[in-house]
Amino acid sequence: MTTDRPVRVRVAPSPTGEPHVGTAYIALFNLAFARKNGGKFVLRIEDTDRERSRQEWEDEIIEGLRWLGLTWDEGPDVGGPFGPYRQSERSAIYHQHIELLLEKGEAYRCFATPEELAQLREEQRARKETSRYDGRWRDRSPAEVKAAMDAGLPFVVRMKMPLEGETVLFDELRGEVRIDNRQVDDQILMKSDGFPTYHLANVVDDHLMGISHVIRAEEWISSTPKHVVLYRAFGWEPPKFIHMPLLRNADKSKISKRKNPVSLLDYKSRGFLPEAVLNYLAMLGFSMPDEREMFTVEEFFENFTWDRMSLGGPTFDLAKLTWLNGRYYREKLSDDAWVKLLRDDLLSEEILRKLVPLIKERIDTSEQFIPAVDYFFSGELTYEASMLVSKGKTPKETREVLEKYGDEIDRQVDFSAPALEALSRGFAESQGWKVKDLFMPLRVAMTGRTATPPLFDTLSVLGRAKVRRRLRQAQDLLKALAEAENKKK
Ligand code: GLU
Repeated sequence: MTTDRPVRVRVAPSPTGEPHVGTAYIALFNLAFARKNGGKFVLRIEDTDRERSRQEWEDEIIEGLRWLGLTWDEGPDVGGPFGPYRQSERSAIYHQHIELLLEKGEAYRCFATPEELAQLREEQRARKETSRYDGRWRDRSPAEVKAAMDAGLPFVVRMKMPLEGETVLFDELRGEVRIDNRQVDDQILMKSDGFPTYHLANVVDDHLMGISHVIRAEEWISSTPKHVVLYRAFGWEPPKFIHMPLLRNADKSKISKRKNPVSLLDYKSRGFLPEAVLNYLAMLGFSMPDEREMFTVEEFFENFTWDRMSLGGPTFDLAKLTWLNGRYYREKLSDDAWVKLLRDDLLSEEILRKLVPLIKERIDTSEQFIPAVDYFFSGELTYEASMLVSKGKTPKETREVLEKYGDEIDRQVDFSAPALEALSRGFAESQGWKVKDLFMPLRVAMTGRTATPPLFDTLSVLGRAKVRRRLRQAQDLLKALAEAENKKK
């Protein structure tokens, strides 16, 4: 691919949840392209969703990417000449750019109330039309707009999409993509709280940060025509676009935590080696010229070209990754590296300091230590599914409640024992469950036992990734139990 600008690429995660394996996959290919072309790789944090964005998630994203050994030349943690690299610190820039679009007549203020828009959707549904914004504020007179502003009515700013014709964009992997402009709404660029939307912030930042190639997941392809129109509205040359195939579950749906572990820290806690994970992620989109499956990240960077990418959505196969990881363990780890891994990761001082207070009341000699804490270290646990079911509850109800509890766990930022206890008591109440009916299955799911150290200390030490994983295992066991009971009937 020829380029006239210096190569600058970026990965732009939103800190609204755990560090996702998909983010690492996109970051890896951006980094490969940058290294291959002597370019720069930027980390930008897209935290425009004020409700869901958290500093803690940003910290975990950085921790997860760094654990893999991915590095960036510029970012919120390392600085750089195009900062700030966190969108919440760039409000003034977005406001200036909104003013620019308003002055040029490329955007307009829309004072439609949420109720009005709900009614519009209702009417469209009744007429069996696809619901969309109808442009009701697009061509209002300046006097009308001024009157609404003087009255202090809340408004959003929308971009003017062309009313006819096509927007054509060129994707370096897919070729020409054409979109009928009539299918695209006048997008909101600035929300009524004055925060920019993804579209505005993304385009303004990619331009101001000198991004030459936007390499992102396929799911954003429907946003790209809007972005192309925005670049034109500003009078800017758009970057080149490359939409990477999405990672998929075995059933071909987009990779999701219900079917696969998605958090990078989950892989870390399972003892996957960063080299093996990077190798596997590279292999999912790319094949080496000699088709070999095991290669280092440096070898990947050296051999990287878009021609060797496959476009079909690669299936993320945990068994295959586990197999590859096993090869790294056997073929690449020296005994010294083994010892270091056990001492630094598995039996680190940090983890021992957490375990000792939990366990010291319960054992009499040190030889009892390892058997007493084995469930902190093992992967899947072995226990009878029926142990998960409290008296008076069915396997199905228990599974459903654990599934909902898992969603709470995903959102829980503070993983200290008191915070988890408060969360769990509140959750039991919200479900109309007695705490003991919830805590018992939780204890079994987490430890495979009925007598353990205090439950929430245990959860806190296990950490989110393992808690999530064990909940998933319990749900699977309960599902099988419910099916078996149904058959009997
Ligand atoms: N913030 C978007 C995300 O979470 C970025 C998409 C893009 O790369 O433009 O993936």
